[in-house]
Amino acid sequence: MRLVSRLVALVLLLSGAAPGPAAAARQEGWSVPILLYHRFGPAAASMTVPTALFEEHLRCLREGGYTVIPLRRLVDAYAGRAAAPAPRSVVIVADDAHRSVSTDMMPLVRRYRVPVTLFVYPSAVSNAPYAMTWDELRAAKATGLVDVQSHTYWHPNFKQEKRRLPPAEYEKLVQSQLARSKAKLEKELGGTVDLLAWPFGVWDEELLRRAAAAGYVATFTLVRRPATRDDRPLALPRHLLTAADRGPAFARLIAGAGAPAVAVLRRGPGPAAAGRLR
Ligand SMILES: [Zn+2]
Repeated sequence: MRLVSRLVALVLLLSGAAPGPAAAARQEGWSVPILLYHRFGPAAASMTVPTALFEEHLRCLREGGYTVIPLRRLVDAYAGRAAAPAPRSVVIVADDAHRSVSTDMMPLVRRYRVPVTLFVYPSAVSNAPYAMTWDELRAAKATGLVDVQSHTYWHPNFKQEKRRLPPAEYEKLVQSQLARSKAKLEKELGGTVDLLAWPFGVWDEELLRRAAAAGYVATFTLVRRPATRDDRPLALPRHLLTAADRGPAFARLIAGAGAPAVAVLRRGPGPAAAGRLR
């Protein structure tokens, strides 16, 4: 941009006449449900959403005029690098890289052309029989629809480990879980890994500080409400989907998208209580 037009833009920005993306994000607010899945299959089970129900969710979003945006797009809005997400924006993510993500979720992701982010703990990949392989993750990424981010290295329960280990060892464990996962994912898959989902939704302020120090710009918890502008990017809520989230229940869930005032009223417990989830 030439200097004159920069100055004009600055004057307009200061006068409030034509807010740029960052200013727009600050002014408009947003309410974006982050829909979290784990496993897919023919029938509902613990952490398993029937594949047909996932397709119903995608159909419902499409027919309801919702837009599935990449998680990165939402994170950029918090950082002021992107405009506020439009009303009726939702995000789709899946934790743990269960092999049904490859067999059941990915065909629907491709058919409906929706962006998704997978949170992966590398110790299981190409190792545990229930997990995806590195090649499957690479193939998913190659669709251009999938981002792969960190879910720590081996999915510890930090609340239990904190009770079990001497402080110095606990600190070492946390640092290694955060750093090794990021390094391994970046080495195997390329790209930048700076988003983190807390295993079991367990987090506290100390963990947030460690995550920021390890290079993560946003982390994700388990709280059943949309992410709003008032949330800190270092602790964004995600809504854990179950087989009960169908029909009117799912419609109510996504109806929170784009209604910031309602979402603020619905805000859940503060950080102190969040560690109790799961
Ligand atoms: Zn997990």
